[in-house]
Amino acid sequence: MQSVGRCTGGRRFLNETCPLSAKAFVAENHIQTPYSMNTIIYRDPHITVFQSALFQTNSTVVQTDDMVLVVDPAWLPEEVKNIRRYVDDIRGLKPLYMVFTHADFDHIIGYKAFNPDRVFFSKAMDERTDKEQVLRQITDFDQQYYIDRPYPVEFPAADFTVFRDGVQFRSGETKMTFYLTPGHTIDSMMVVVWQLGLCIAGDYLCDVEFPLIEHSSVAYEATLEKLPHIHDRNWFTRLIPGHGKPALLLNEWLKRRTESLSYLYALRESIALDLPFDEAALWKRYKYSVIQKGFHEANRALLEEEYRQNLWSWNPKDRKVKRFLEQPAEVGDSDSEEDLENLREQQRERDLEYL
Ligand SMILES: [Zn+2]
Repeated sequence: MQSVGRCTGGRRFLNETCPLSAKAFVAENHIQTPYSMNTIIYRDPHITVFQSALFQTNSTVVQTDDMVLVVDPAWLPEEVKNIRRYVDDIRGLKPLYMVFTHADFDHIIGYKAFNPDRVFFSKAMDERTDKEQVLRQITDFDQQYYIDRPYPVEFPAADFTVFRDGVQFRSGETKMTFYLTPGHTIDSMMVVVWQLGLCIAGDYLCDVEFPLIEHSSVAYEATLEKLPHIHDRNWFTRLIPGHGKPALLLNEWLKRRTESLSYLYALRESIALDLPFDEAALWKRYKYSVIQKGFHEANRALLEEEYRQNLWSWNPKDRKVKRFLEQPAEVGDSDSEEDLENLREQQRERDLEYL
């Protein structure tokens, strides 16, 4: 099921006010580089994260001795061109791989600016029946802003589709492991670069947004529950989300995960018990309320429909986690640790299947 996400929400936004006021997007304290226009927000010898001026969208470039990997290059033509130029500069004779974490239009928009040796994404992305619609969202966006792209707009073609958790691809000493993570979209996928302790997560655990549930809250919850298991198999510490700041420490992404569950459970409780949802607390935590109000309403509509269809029931055990959203200012570290441990216990009880 496809509901209002960044794409349709974005289009509604476009009709109201122009978000492309240059000053609005000047981010402070970021590293300005020769690859101007978009900004490198994180860099180490192996990982470079470019962040677009739009929606703080992250494009990750990974380099090892064996390969260069580009994940979800986005958004504006000049930004995509900068990423391409950077890749050309560092690539040498290494193979170029591309991963798409999912097919929301902002994540596939830069595909044809590159000539990758192999493209990886989920089987569910390959099987999407709305590919034309996704491409139309790109051309609509470009029309709205008089944007010309110096490359064709096409839906990615896969050389390698991921159909189950734990599928690996090796290039020399570099190992990439893929996990299916539906919920945000039906086709979402994460990739772990084992040697670097790095997980590139797509649109999960973004510090600037609560869960955007375009597909299923049940699948979304299962993905959040799966994350510690993915961690235990791969020991990644750093996690790069699709939007916002990278989480560079284990505790940081665990905290975001708990906040995501907290949002999900708060919304479920509100629907199941017919109680008001505490939006004031939500907007205290997430500041881009003008556009995100629409995302929240779409989530609510989707979860209400799921509830009518008995796809989930309210579990009072989830109250403990929900507290994070209700009292964001009062949560101390010791509370977080205690609640995280409780959360892990719940997971063990639920005996989630994973690989
Ligand atoms: Zn998305």
